[in-house]
Amino acid sequence: MEEAYVRLVCPECSKDWQSTPRDLPAPSETYNCPNCHASRRLSEFMRTEQDLQTLKELQ
Ligand SMILES: [Zn+2]
Repeated sequence: MEEAYVRLVCPECSKDWQSTPRDLPAPSETYNCPNCHASRRLSEFMRTEQDLQTLKELQ
């Protein structure tokens, strides 16, 4: 079974955290790191490919 959350990590400041897919925008949308405010596509914050798949499946 898939977990009901995805794990994120910021590629710039390395902050890691978890969120539920419904609280996140689509993977191709710009997302701002809550710690360092880096702007990148949300897909770049996914910690693993599995997290990206979970995001796509549950959104
Ligand atoms: Zn950051």
